Amino acid sequence: MFIIVNVCYYEIKKEELAEIIFGGGNMEESGTIPLCGGGNKRWQSGKERKNKEEDKTRSRYYAKSRKRIAASVVTMAVLTTLFFIQYCRTEVTIEEEKPRFLLAEEGKALVDQDRLKQMDEVLKAPPVFEEKQKVREILQPTTVRISNPDLDYGIVRVIEEGSEGLIEHVVEIKKREGRELSRKIVSSEVIKPPVNRVLEYGGKNTFSRAGRIYEYKKVLYVNATAYCPGTPGSGCPIDERGASQCTGFYNDGYTYTGKKAVAGDGSIINPHIIAVDPAVIPLKAMVYLEGYGFAIAEDTGSAIKGSSIDLLFNHHDDAWKFGRKQLKVYLLANFE
Ligand SMILES: [Zn+2]
Repeated sequence: MFIIVNVCYYEIKKEELAEIIFGGGNMEESGTIPLCGGGNKRWQSGKERKNKEEDKTRSRYYAKSRKRIAASVVTMAVLTTLFFIQYCRTEVTIEEEKPRFLLAEEGKALVDQDRLKQMDEVLKAPPVFEEKQKVREILQPTTVRISNPDLDYGIVRVIEEGSEGLIEHVVEIKKREGRELSRKIVSSEVIKPPVNRVLEYGGKNTFSRAGRIYEYKKVLYVNATAYCPGTPGSGCPIDERGASQCTGFYNDGYTYTGKKAVAGDGSIINPHIIAVDPAVIPLKAMVYLEGYGFAIAEDTGSAIKGSSIDLLFNHHDDAWKFGRKQLKVYLLANFE
């Protein structure tokens, strides 16, 4: 700005005033010359030009000079004003830059002025507090199932019970005026790893007897008892009402399915007869009783519930001798 004013001043001095000074004119008539006093003496001592034309020319140049000076002053004023405006503007910009700076600290890019305005509003809002909490979480074990070809089909064994694990998270929570704004896990540490639960499933579904292979659907472990038909020839005690000890009033010599209640020999062609709970072993199903041979479910009994069977003997004494046993039962496939 100062340079511009000087240039204006210099132009007047060099071109206009020089012409005024050297071109003639009376200093006394023209009053004070504001610029370049050094030339006055030369003008005083110069040759005389006192005609009116010269006076007019001189007056015109003086007027032009004053205009130029006035223009310089106005320019200076304008530039000064602009300088102060710029100065004030800089003050505002610093304030505006503040959120921009804070944004940069957070590693976020500034998008535009609207974003800046939004952030300014955020900064004017009540402050956000950060806190860190340790939160523990239970890790559930995974259940792993493996098949064992040596284990009977239908049998499930627990190889490993498994146990829960524990993980600890460090959670960063942001709050404003007590209200939670966000939470995120910043780190996690496994305190105790979970131990998987391992189950072993039976993959074996066949067994062989007397050179033949039998396929089975399921293996059951049952409580086995024995009974007789309760007929007069069986030796079963019968009370005064006519009810036998083993079969009560169902002592007509036939099973529930209507088959003659005669014990088999345990072979596949002449199997034993058993009473079952049809909910566990279906009626007419063929089974294999470990130690006793094949048997077919032909009967039911009021005392036979769940995993229990009753094995038919022809004589009450044999049934009595049998007592109560835990038996492994194969429920055979492909027998209807
Ligand atoms: Zn009996």
